[in-house]
Amino acid sequence: MVVRSHPEAVVYPRELDEDRIDPDAAKVVRRLVRHGYEAYLVGGCVRDLLVERSPKDFDVATSARPDDVRRLFRNSRIIGRRFRLVHVLFGGGKVIETATFRRAPSQEETDGDDPLIRTDNVFGEAFQDAARRDFTINGLFYDLEQRVVLDWVGGMPDIERRTVHTIGDPCLRFREDPVRILRAIKFAAKLDFGISPEVYDAMVECRGTLARAAKPRLFEELLRLLREGAAHRAIWLAWETGVLDVLLPELSTYLSDLGENDDGVFRLLSEVDRRTKAREAPLDDVVLMAVLLYGPLREACSGSRDRVEAAYRFLETIVDRLNMPRRIADPVRRVAAILPRIEEGRGGRFARTSLYSVAVEIASIFGAASGTEEPPAVPRETGATASATIRSARRRRRRRPTRPEA
Ligand code: ATP
Ligand code: MG
Repeated sequence: MVVRSHPEAVVYPRELDEDRIDPDAAKVVRRLVRHGYEAYLVGGCVRDLLVERSPKDFDVATSARPDDVRRLFRNSRIIGRRFRLVHVLFGGGKVIETATFRRAPSQEETDGDDPLIRTDNVFGEAFQDAARRDFTINGLFYDLEQRVVLDWVGGMPDIERRTVHTIGDPCLRFREDPVRILRAIKFAAKLDFGISPEVYDAMVECRGTLARAAKPRLFEELLRLLREGAAHRAIWLAWETGVLDVLLPELSTYLSDLGENDDGVFRLLSEVDRRTKAREAPLDDVVLMAVLLYGPLREACSGSRDRVEAAYRFLETIVDRLNMPRRIADPVRRVAAILPRIEEGRGGRFARTSLYSVAVEIASIFGAASGTEEPPAVPRETGATASATIRSARRRRRRRPTRPEA
């Protein structure tokens, strides 16, 4: 049933699963409402609850200004310079991000013909806050007291038809913030949603603008494509839309050069997804990048006497293009040097280095993807994973006839 009551929003009565709603997020919303402010659960958490997934985190949007929120919650701090928002802190390091409604800057506030958003520090009303968000499925507000979803952006119909659609003109929204192109891929991949044809065409058309986006954000979004248990679909979409040509041309060329039947990279990514889902936690960033770049990296190193040097040269352009942090680039480079041994499932003299658990995991992903290894049972607690993997690998190594390490 669709009831029209709010002046602008379409109101959908929905009893979202209380068991999936974080009690602390609910506490924040309820206290704000009790003190006379408007407050809602917003964004990704509402979307996830509607498609019956457990949200990763909970965001609150409110009419209260940051100082007002700060006063209501002793356990809170104001963060951000450009846009101030409040982190309300709970036990176990939990943070409920509580942001005052804001609106998109007007044309005078942006830079003339250039729609790239540089300032976004303007408070607004709830409906304006919905409209400034990226995709319709991310623009829904949940009123906990009334148990209704407020929809100013056509998000509910898109949730129902499982479609990613920008709020407003896709090209304009991508030019304002090119990282949204990667976010479209992420949501389509992880929710298994379609991308509306209009948005898909705009992604293809605007993909070049990604080169203008802030590099650290690009790299972070690339990692997110790999971390969510839908890396196969995400990288495939990135390749198909030509987004990969902009981010990682080395990989897209490598994929295009492969024969029809060579699905090696995608088999590795499927194995990454299988492990991510079994663990209910992302794999190590170094493992993710090493697996993603494995094909072109191996090609770059093959025949080279100094593999570390060859890997260094290969990775350096990517480090520059995407601002890949050293904490990832350095170990990926060292892993590249021992790739041949990894492919044979031998960690070799890396057994006692911090890189060993990473190398073992990569070797085991290769083994499972090529069918030479039974997919290992993956322990659910991540904490135990690395050491458990090392232990079982050591046990396997001991049982093998000893042979001198190269
Ligand atoms: P995830 O489950 O991956 O965290 P999310 O939708 O919660 O997905 P966040 O990056 O946590 O994504 O952002 C929270 C919300 O902020 C989004 O749902 C969206 O409404 C809004 N948002 C985030 N990034 C942008 C952006 N680049 N442009 C406009 N709105 C954005
Ligand atoms: Mg989120």
